[in-house]
Amino acid sequence: MKDEIVIAEALNHEIRIHAAVSTRMAEDARKAQDSAATCTAALGRTLTVTALIASDLKKPEEHVRVRINGGGPIGTILTEGDGAGNVRGCGENMQYYAVKENGHLDVGRVVGNNGTLQVSRDMGLKEPFTGTVLLRSGEIGEDFAAYFMESEQIGSVVSVGVLVDTDSSVKAAGGMIIQLLPNASEETIVQVEQTAARLRPMSETVDEGIEPETLIHQLFPDAQILAHKPLRWHCDCSKEHFREALGALREKDLTEMIEEDHGAEVVCHYCRTRYQFNEAELKEILEQKRIDENRNR
Ligand SMILES: [Zn+2]
Repeated sequence: MKDEIVIAEALNHEIRIHAAVSTRMAEDARKAQDSAATCTAALGRTLTVTALIASDLKKPEEHVRVRINGGGPIGTILTEGDGAGNVRGCGENMQYYAVKENGHLDVGRVVGNNGTLQVSRDMGLKEPFTGTVLLRSGEIGEDFAAYFMESEQIGSVVSVGVLVDTDSSVKAAGGMIIQLLPNASEETIVQVEQTAARLRPMSETVDEGIEPETLIHQLFPDAQILAHKPLRWHCDCSKEHFREALGALREKDLTEMIEEDHGAEVVCHYCRTRYQFNEAELKEILEQKRIDENRNR
């Protein structure tokens, strides 16, 4: 089953549903981050919800950025999604493994629940729209549900899951957001609550090969599919991007790299690609920095 996002409306156009299969994306993230199973699940869940939120963006260059800081061993989780379906993300320490007594991966423990979830929507305006909420459990799904309620005043059910195989690869991943539209009646609210109560884990339905569109119709027979959208793991970093980042360093630090290290290696946090800059390249960056600074003077 290929990765995709399906957007639909149902219950007399009073709810909106976003559902995704994200197995391949979560596996690509795992490979890039070389993560242990519990961290694979934590990042895969966050990336899946990021992609679901980003699927509402109108232009490919618009971005959604998520930052989760729960005080757990994984450290800060950063994810980014754009309007074209590309997502990337990272955690600070991806080697931590924790399971609950029932054998399930203990995502809440690696993420922690002593901190915040922040979502920024960058629509190319001066300031991105940013909302922050306190983490509930660090299990990701209910933390995002709290974000939608508190920060956007949208009653939402968020279900997201990543199933990790015995060989550490991602076996199945998916997510769903069910949201009440402003015109939702009392009857619809009750119906959504009942549906949420009997919702099976997303990773399970994906593992059984149930497509998002089929799942939506099973849950809400009157659903109308509005769109199918792609999602994929993709990092758009480049040597040029890091050249600019180096140029933003202090002159003193650049000089030190030139005189003491005779070069620099920069690693992308997301895809872990290594970029080498030799002494001549660093000198060029420093020279350009001086020219730019003189011009701005
Ligand atoms: Zn990268």
